Amino acid sequence: MTDNKLQVLKKLQNELSDFLQTGKAYECLKVMCADSIDALQNGHDEKVTFTRWKLKARYEGSTQAADEIDPKELQKWIDDKKLNIVLTNIIQAEHQPFQELGYFPVVKTNETKGGKGNEKLYWLDIEKKRFEIVDQQADAPDEFSHIEFVEYHRSEPSAIKISWFYRFFFKNGEMKNRSLRGLFLISVIFSSVIFWLLYLIVVALVLVREGQSFTSFNLLILFGVVFFTWLLWKYEFIPIWNLPEHRVIKAPMIFLSLNELDAEIEMYRDKERNQITRFTRFTATCPICTADIVLRDGKPDQNAPLVGRCAESPFAHVYSFDRVTMKGKYLGV
Ligand SMILES: [Zn+2]
Repeated sequence: MTDNKLQVLKKLQNELSDFLQTGKAYECLKVMCADSIDALQNGHDEKVTFTRWKLKARYEGSTQAADEIDPKELQKWIDDKKLNIVLTNIIQAEHQPFQELGYFPVVKTNETKGGKGNEKLYWLDIEKKRFEIVDQQADAPDEFSHIEFVEYHRSEPSAIKISWFYRFFFKNGEMKNRSLRGLFLISVIFSSVIFWLLYLIVVALVLVREGQSFTSFNLLILFGVVFFTWLLWKYEFIPIWNLPEHRVIKAPMIFLSLNELDAEIEMYRDKERNQITRFTRFTATCPICTADIVLRDGKPDQNAPLVGRCAESPFAHVYSFDRVTMKGKYLGV
């Protein structure tokens, strides 16, 4: 059994490093696999167990990140279901890597509800049964019902890095629309549009005055100005214009700090019915492949302005997005 286990785990390690996907479940499996192989090679055949905390610490490369995460979030961060989804994807790969060995890797966990002093443990083991599982899936579509829905998670507004100019308006990532800051921001945005239009009129007048001496350099400037206007209009003005109606938009690049790749702006009413605008980020874990799901444009294949798309398979693993229920339904292709 120990020999079999070592063989299967080594095979798994190869498959994990060859698999063209990334994500926390993959990284956690790599860590579990490497430690289990180490133990077996050193003659220890008892199981090598991991808590979520330990997996998070190894994944981030520091214990600090694991200490900082809220215990509830840590519970959602990884579980045996996510780990086993990745394992099943690998086992069912076209070249069927484990078929010859006759044993298949599986992630096991102890029977506990979790909580203090009662932590969930995960470990890698091997089993003989996977052939049946493949059959079962064909007979029982219920096995796949878990891919139907995703649950979104909202990041704290203060966690989003905003560009220095807008940081003045959004304290900790939030702003009351009817506050001095809010009114000031709205007037800045609208007056910048008006000034830009005035500038365009001046440029047009100058070009008209130049008349016959219109050179290709003038033409280049004209193209530049038109292109910039279009960018500003499409990627800054229109999204902000849509915000009150759509409630959630992708944050235009200009609002975000350079090292922030992705965030949303959301408008909502607080308990005192104040309209609040805040930065946040909606994410979920893809139930098909465990990669991250982020909000993206629904166009061209979906009707909704924003849908949840999986980082690894953005056009097949597509989910709807509902900011009220924080749930999404599988939309597929
Ligand atoms: Zn996916």
